[in-house]
Amino acid sequence: MHHVDTLTSPTAAKSATKSSAVTDAERAKLVADVEAYCQEIRPIEEICYLEHRPNPAIAELAKKHNLLGMAMPKEYGGRGMDSLTYARALVRINREGTGVRTFFSGHTSIGQYPILKYGTDEQKKRYLPKSCTGGCTLAFGLTEPEAGSNPLEGTCTYRREGGKLIMNGVKYLISNGSIADAVIVFAFPEGSTGKDRRMSAIIVDTAGDTFEKEALHAKPGMYTSDTAMFQMNDHPVNGDNMLGKEGEGFRIAMHTLVSGRLSVASGCLGTIEDCLDECLRYARERHQHGKPIGKHQLVQEHIARIEFMRATSDAMIERAAIAKEISDNAPGDADLLSKADFAVAEAKYWASNAAWEAVDRAVQVFGGRGWSELYRPFRHLQDVRVCRIYEGTDEIMKLKIASKLLGKGFEAFA
Ligand SMILES: Cc1cc2nc3c(=O)[nH]c(=O)nc-3n(C[C@H](O)[C@H](O)[C@H](O)COP(=O)(O)OP(=O)(O)OC[C@H]3O[C@@H](n4cnc5c(N)ncnc54)[C@H](O)[C@@H]3O)c2cc1C
Repeated sequence: MHHVDTLTSPTAAKSATKSSAVTDAERAKLVADVEAYCQEIRPIEEICYLEHRPNPAIAELAKKHNLLGMAMPKEYGGRGMDSLTYARALVRINREGTGVRTFFSGHTSIGQYPILKYGTDEQKKRYLPKSCTGGCTLAFGLTEPEAGSNPLEGTCTYRREGGKLIMNGVKYLISNGSIADAVIVFAFPEGSTGKDRRMSAIIVDTAGDTFEKEALHAKPGMYTSDTAMFQMNDHPVNGDNMLGKEGEGFRIAMHTLVSGRLSVASGCLGTIEDCLDECLRYARERHQHGKPIGKHQLVQEHIARIEFMRATSDAMIERAAIAKEISDNAPGDADLLSKADFAVAEAKYWASNAAWEAVDRAVQVFGGRGWSELYRPFRHLQDVRVCRIYEGTDEIMKLKIASKLLGKGFEAFA
């Protein structure tokens, strides 16, 4: 069985979330730094959003407030936070916008995380400290124009030549893709077929004119963060940059997505929380028919439903974060990883759909002002829809959950 409820006993939760390397004071300092970051970014983010342009302060202020390595061990310059504390930080950050949080997901949850889990000591020393201090923005490049839900249909390639790995191909819809200094790229050996066609993960430094990048602007939301495509044209990479074993790329990608999906779920909870606060304020202030709209019972229904979405998402994210932390603390334990994968998929599916309901209701509570980028509910509505698509669509999450419950032989897709 893949239920994780046994993992969420108070004792297990305590031991899983209390990393001995981090003190309560350090955790409290992180919460304070995240709050300071959010307060400082809000007015800048609002202007950039309304002008539909990237917000460079997302990364700059993250550096200033020492938030670029929240979930990385202290020995690599990070703050050593456990999965639950990091998830809570992303909840708070996402209240400032899904685009703001997506930067952190791309950089830490799916950028730094696979290097930490699969990198050699040398790779970790080369990439993690500078990524924690602002010297190296990271991204995760799995999706291609013709390969999304099934990354094994990808066509990016590598070959070895003179001690280098030579990369070719296009990656599409990559968060931080045009600002990253290094991307975890998934590619196949050039010319491979059949059994030899096994995907590998390679850390690709993006400098040089053989790596062409292009920010994608035709998107209805998340204007302030970077979504990009890039093309590698015989792009040479250090021969030591294979991440994990050759051919292990699919496993690395799936493991990394457990971390990424938890970050998306956490972000969605931030969206719900912000919508709830906005609705409570507006429903008290706005008067129609001689009373605050919050006294109309149909408006109260919207508020109650948003609260249900908040409470259920919060519980599922906590359960998923604990399952992930337990798995992280037991490297190589396939059963614990499978449980974490399951709990995170449930949380990601639930929270992203809960957020979609919450933003819709918040827009309704705001009436005509709800249908305007000048107000937060509509900005959240535009941004959050993608959370049901990226890092695994609704459909893929449902198939993953049902097939795991049904057991061997019921895999919905190869
Ligand atoms: C803003 C944004 C940021 C992103 N950031 C990143 C990133 O940082 N790195 C990265 O690698 N990718 C990223 N992506 C890509 C994202 O993960 C993919 O878009 C997503 O996985 C879906 O792939 P696709 O778009 O190719 O859709 P497809 O896989 O073509 O799916 C189309 C539809 O078919 C459904 N479908 C597909 N297969 C099945 C099946 N077997 N059973 C049932 N239904 C199925 C899907 O659920 C979906 O509804 C990002 C995307 C966006 C929009």
